[in-house]
Amino acid sequence: MSEPILVAENLTKWFPVKRNLTQVMKGNRTWVRAVDRISFTINKGEIFGLVGESGCGKTTTGKLIMKLLEITDGTLEMKGENATHLRGAALEKYRREVQMIFQDPYSSMNPRFTVRDVLMEPLEIHKVGKDAKEREVWVREILDEVKLSPPDEFLVRHPHMLSGGQRQRAATARTLMLSPSIIVADEPVSMIDLSTRAEILHMMRQLQREMGLTYVYITHDLSTARYFTDRLAVMYLGKIIEMGVAGSVIDRTLHPYTKALIAAVCEPVSGKVNRIKDVPIKGEIPAATNIPPGCRFHPRCLYAVEECWQEEEPTLDDIGGGHLVACRRWAEIERLGAAARTSEASLGTRKSSFAPSA
Ligand code: SF4
Repeated sequence: MSEPILVAENLTKWFPVKRNLTQVMKGNRTWVRAVDRISFTINKGEIFGLVGESGCGKTTTGKLIMKLLEITDGTLEMKGENATHLRGAALEKYRREVQMIFQDPYSSMNPRFTVRDVLMEPLEIHKVGKDAKEREVWVREILDEVKLSPPDEFLVRHPHMLSGGQRQRAATARTLMLSPSIIVADEPVSMIDLSTRAEILHMMRQLQREMGLTYVYITHDLSTARYFTDRLAVMYLGKIIEMGVAGSVIDRTLHPYTKALIAAVCEPVSGKVNRIKDVPIKGEIPAATNIPPGCRFHPRCLYAVEECWQEEEPTLDDIGGGHLVACRRWAEIERLGAAARTSEASLGTRKSSFAPSA
C-alpha cells in the first residue's frame, strides 16, 4: 500500500514581469506562469520523475518543493501536515526533511572547503550529533555509502581535486547527512561524463533501496528517466500533461507532446548512419507570459483541431491504471497509431489564430 509523503494541490508559481512606464501608467501587469495549477502525489520510497524541455517549469516545481521559492497559490502537504507557507523553526525542520542535489556539483560546493567541511557543515548548522567526534563517525559512514572510500583519502580533498563523478558522490553524501525524507535531484547527471552517469544513477538507486529514500528526479532526458524513475510526470509550459507509471508513460504514450519528446531521443543503431529523425512537433515553445488559449500545446500539435483552441483547456484525466493525460483526442490518436505513421492529412486542418509573443 503506497503511503503519500508529499501532496501538491493546484501548485502555482507566477513571477511578475518588469513593466515599462506605459504599462505602469495603464496599470497593466504581466506574469510569467512558470508553474500553473499542478497537482501530484509522491509516495514514500518512490522515484518520481519530472520531465520536459527547458522552460517547462520542472526546476521551478523542484524549488517550490524545496521551499526555495514562495508558493503563489495552491497547497503543499508534507507527511500529512500543511507545508504551503512555513517560517522560522517549522521551515528549518522542513529543510532537514527535504534536501537537494544540484545539477552542477562543482558550483554547489564551496571551493575552499574540504570534503570533511562540506559534510560537517549541515550537521553543525542543524546541531546534529553530540560533538565533532560523533559527527566525524557519521561523515565517514556516509562516505562509505556513496563509495568514496577509503574515507581518509577523500576527507582532505577540495572539490577541484575530485573527478566529476566523485564530486557528484560527495554532493549526494551531503544531502544524506541529515537523513532526509525526500531528495530533489535536479539534473544530477547532466554535467557528468556519459561513462559515469549509469554508475551515479545506480548508486542513487541502491541508496534509495537501502535507506528508504524518496527522490524527485528532474530531467529533460527521457532515456535516464525511463531507467531511473518509478512514476513520471511530463510538463509542458507550466502544466503536467501526462503522468503515470514510467513504463506506461513511455510504452503507451498518449499525449502528442510526450510522443515528440520520445521521438527526439537519439537511438544509435549499429551498422546504420544516424540520421536526424522527424520529430512530430512544430514551432517553438510559446512565452510563459502568453499562454495559448484552450489546450496550451495546440500551436505545436500536429493533431490539433478547432475545439482544441476554442474550448476549455483539457483536464488531466485518469484513463485507467493510474495513467493520466490532458488531451481531448488521446483515444483517437491512440487509434491512429504512432505519430510517425500518421499523415498530416488525417489530422487537424484549420489554423489557430494564436500568435506567440516575441
Ligand atoms: S487537446 Fe488537441 S491540441 Fe491539445 S494535445 Fe490534444 S490534440 Fe493536441
